[in-house]
Amino acid sequence: MTNPNSDCPVCPDAMKPGSPNRRRNTSLLIQRELSDGRTSNIIIDAGKFFYESAMNWFPKYGVRTMDALVITHAHADAVGGFDDLRDWTNNAQETLPIYLRETDLDSVESLFYYLVDRSKQTGGGGVAKLNFETIDANPFDVDALTFTPLPVEHGKNQECFGFRFGPVSYISDASGISEETAKLIEGSDLLVLDALRPARTHGTHFTVEQAIEQARRFGIKRNLLVDATHDIDHVPVNHELSKLKEIENLDIQYAHDGMSIEVDL
Ligand SMILES: [Zn+2]
Ligand SMILES: [Zn+2]
Repeated sequence: MTNPNSDCPVCPDAMKPGSPNRRRNTSLLIQRELSDGRTSNIIIDAGKFFYESAMNWFPKYGVRTMDALVITHAHADAVGGFDDLRDWTNNAQETLPIYLRETDLDSVESLFYYLVDRSKQTGGGGVAKLNFETIDANPFDVDALTFTPLPVEHGKNQECFGFRFGPVSYISDASGISEETAKLIEGSDLLVLDALRPARTHGTHFTVEQAIEQARRFGIKRNLLVDATHDIDHVPVNHELSKLKEIENLDIQYAHDGMSIEVDL
């Protein structure tokens, strides 16, 4: 965007308000009404742009408080926004449960030592009051919704979690899916899948071509792609992808920030 000689059509478009090419870090809000009438807001991942995303979408979707945060892995695009959680725990709610793996808690502790060990805080501003709940590959319940972890490869020798809840399988960061995890995904109605950019070696994320292959492998009714770089021009790329629906009945499209989908949980 600062290169006068750039001919990228996507970046200047991303500057326009409301452009689907304007992408913050991948994240999901699961909003549902509980049997006692209360609305539950569970968020997956709070990355570097969490604050900006929250300002954009929380008022629109009536989110005042967060009931829990579920973390896929400890990269900056999934946990980089932890410091900003103070604006919730210090103003809107008492505390916030965060579900994450032990190894991710270790990484979070080295990034934000004062958030994990609150005795180490030195400033007077008050830091976020977070309750860390460690998870492993076993299913766990949040607000009576069962999350089944989907361990996936995210680069060589690195594992990341996706999550299955109800008919939804959410995999924001992946470069490979084992047969074991594939069995947990089977029978989903909606697959959210990492698709960084068109084929070019990457190694830690699926390319668009690989994501299409995965979608074919599972044969799920609806597939939404996330985590795109500026190589993906939202509208024309989705137009191309829509041809797969006509040719082989494969419903696969890039998602966009603020997108809302109704599912039966
Ligand atoms: Zn660009
Ligand atoms: Zn990552």
